[in-house]
Amino acid sequence: MAASNRVLIVGSVALDSVETPLGQVTDALGGSAVYASVAANYYSPVSLLGVVGDDFPEEHVAMLNGMGIDTSGLQVEEGQTFRWRGRYDHDVNQAHTIATHLNVFESFRPELPASHREADFVFLANIDPELQLSVLDQVDNDDALTFADTMNFWIETKREELLEVFRRVNVVFINDAEARELCETSSLIRAGNRLLEMGPEVVVIKKGEHGALMFHPDQHFAVPSYPLMEVCDPTGAGDSFAGGFIGSLASEPVRDPAAYRRAAVRGSVVASYNVEDFSLGRLKSLTDEELHQRFLEFQRFTYFE
Ligand code: AMP
Repeated sequence: MAASNRVLIVGSVALDSVETPLGQVTDALGGSAVYASVAANYYSPVSLLGVVGDDFPEEHVAMLNGMGIDTSGLQVEEGQTFRWRGRYDHDVNQAHTIATHLNVFESFRPELPASHREADFVFLANIDPELQLSVLDQVDNDDALTFADTMNFWIETKREELLEVFRRVNVVFINDAEARELCETSSLIRAGNRLLEMGPEVVVIKKGEHGALMFHPDQHFAVPSYPLMEVCDPTGAGDSFAGGFIGSLASEPVRDPAAYRRAAVRGSVVASYNVEDFSLGRLKSLTDEELHQRFLEFQRFTYFE
């Protein structure tokens, strides 16, 4: 696919310690911006904006650069990198956060290099909504298509700031439990419609192993998740879904309902590969052929007359 628009992605860059029924990793590369950037980069060029501490292994930056991801907006500050510790039991849809150490994120003030201010596609991946707003304030392109994601941590601690983010972006990604929590309803359909009333033009509710629902003024679209026998590590599934979605949309000449549908499927394709291994183990080495084959499989198993 011919990649076109550059996607600017801001979010967490993390060292994750994760335990699942299939094993565990300690201080492995993670973070919403990392998963989203690697996923989006398969479809469109990416610039990553974030912060790490001086303990962040150089090899991770080298890997991102090796894939062609622009890390000139990755600030290195004195102190420790953001760390997240989580556990999954047999229900892969339910992440149990054991510890969140914001570390260098506590004093992070994102500064967009001049070259990033005119980005056409901006993804505010899961991060403090105050930082998401500060990035939006610095984008100097009225036509930019803007996207935001979040998580329960911010719904519970920065609700007002988060609602302001949702008022200002074009597309919101949110997972099912968070949509229910934020909208105070058990119905995802009602939650999707309430989220649309909050401001965005498109809302995508991610349902983990049950796929995703897209609420768009011209269409309702449901995409299943890929039928995997085994999920090794669900961390980053939502971020890689959003990254694949946005990268796909940014590579399309026209953003019509069909392009949004393809984006939802490509998001599901990359997310399905991501969960096959811990950290970036699988996500970092996909081929165009693998991505294309799984895209065709989605086409086959959702087709009927
Ligand atoms: P996902 O599984 O797609 O929801 O996202 C997992 C990623 O989110 C992990 O790599 C974590 O480092 C990152 N993460 C966890 N908690 C937070 C938080 N409070 N703010 C930003 N990123 C976080």
